[in-house]
Amino acid sequence: MEIQNYINGEWKEPSTGQFAPVINPATGETIAEVAMSGPNDIDEAVQAAKEAQRQWALVPAPKRAEILYKVGMLLKERKEQLARLLTMEMGKVIEEARGEVQEGIDMAFYMAGEGRRLFGDTTPSELKDKFAMSVRVPVGVVGIITPWNFPIAIATWKSFPAIVAGNAVVWKPAPETPIMAQELARIFEEAGLPPGVFHVVHGDGPTVGNALVEHPDVKVISFTGSNEVGRMIAEKCGRLLKKVSLEMGGKNAVIVMDDADLTLAVDGIIWSAFGTSGQRCTACSRVIVHERVKQELERRLLEAVKALKIGNGLDETVKVGPVIHEEALQKIDRYVRIGVEEGAKLLVGGYILREGDYARGFYYAPTIFTDVTPNMRIAREEIFGPVVSIMSVRSLDEAIAVNNSVDYGLSSAIFTRDVNRVFRAMRDLDTGIVYVNAGTTGAEIHLPFGGTKGTGNGHRDSGVAALDVFTEWRSIYVDFSGKLQRAQIDTDD
Ligand code: NAD
Repeated sequence: MEIQNYINGEWKEPSTGQFAPVINPATGETIAEVAMSGPNDIDEAVQAAKEAQRQWALVPAPKRAEILYKVGMLLKERKEQLARLLTMEMGKVIEEARGEVQEGIDMAFYMAGEGRRLFGDTTPSELKDKFAMSVRVPVGVVGIITPWNFPIAIATWKSFPAIVAGNAVVWKPAPETPIMAQELARIFEEAGLPPGVFHVVHGDGPTVGNALVEHPDVKVISFTGSNEVGRMIAEKCGRLLKKVSLEMGGKNAVIVMDDADLTLAVDGIIWSAFGTSGQRCTACSRVIVHERVKQELERRLLEAVKALKIGNGLDETVKVGPVIHEEALQKIDRYVRIGVEEGAKLLVGGYILREGDYARGFYYAPTIFTDVTPNMRIAREEIFGPVVSIMSVRSLDEAIAVNNSVDYGLSSAIFTRDVNRVFRAMRDLDTGIVYVNAGTTGAEIHLPFGGTKGTGNGHRDSGVAALDVFTEWRSIYVDFSGKLQRAQIDTDD
């Protein structure tokens, strides 16, 4: 199967004529070939998007929303088929793939509802016989750049609010996961989205992603990916005075206090550390445990890890799938070696699985380090694999300080039964998302999603906050007095 670009409602060969293999990480097999486009393809898409957006912005928002509603219905109808494709191209286990498609469905219905809201403010005026209000207006052409770990959900978090607000979208997906992009474009087409409102241009970051970032007619870049690439994009957008929304990495922690329900804490840690093989931006990669329960928690975690079945995510009984590619395996393994050199104690795992059924895919054994200290690299840097570091503390204050000591600020969690501790954690943990008595993953689409510090630059995906990325505010003053009334001037009446 050759995956083409989707430009102006047509499937098109890349101008370069080049394709690259798409590999199933569970089996190492090539399952498709994806277009490796060039800057010309981006330019063609952006020009068509610019043209189409003018008309799209004139379609009443509730009508735009009806198309999103159809998109939601089509996603729902095809949920199982899409989930299976997702598992094949990305590797996550099938129940998580279904969950990911569900996020797209939820976002479609949520943003379809926004078509009848898109609220602005009406306010009193300072002057008599004058009316004041603010309205959201679309920005124009939006550029979306996404990673491989959520190949459809992240695109829906970004494109649905952009489209309901009256923008046109040019999307550059990650080259590892183009199949979901193809499916989403087909669904938009079937739902009746006018040609030119949504485009997909495949290719690598430095060529195609960069062309999108630098294109003068792209007014906003919404990026999700690594901190390194996000920073580079932000620097470019800074020079171009282009609005840019960044969702980047995480180093998320679960705090387990001495009064926690340990059974619940173990379930939460295992799910958020080893779900998606640790390749979630919100994955738990640090456990900060009160010294009084450390030993017992470790014993239970060890037991739970040994029960995890690793394998091809299409097998319903498998709990941990492969990681995305060989390069990721090597990076994870490098970090494990660093952890050992730093003096952390390997409790379980710490190796690449190469035997038998694992030989052709990219599998890493779920890994737990203990006796980790907050200054070690494995406790500070994003590993993006099934590796978790346990650190012990003596108090809630110390736990919060350790949680907040990293450069990232996406998600954190606390297990405790003490309501005072809960409220202090809610106030003092410095991440964009905080969970109480749950792991670090599991965001719902109607709340803002994103993080502080090295995770983001103040914008959010999801929730109404997403609309702020894809709209400008316009303040409108209507004077119906029939005479020139002057504001910002001292007047007696
Ligand atoms: P990545 O940064 O390597 O790539 C992300 C996207 O950027 C890809 O489409 C890539 O092709 C593109 N890209 C690369 N170089 C570029 C350049 N010079 N100009 C423009 N685009 C470029 O990230 P990845 O490996 O695909 O994904 C993993 C990362 O994503 C992790 O750090 C993870 O934490 C992060 N992530 C964050 C969130 C969040 O919401 N905070 C969600 C999911 C993943």
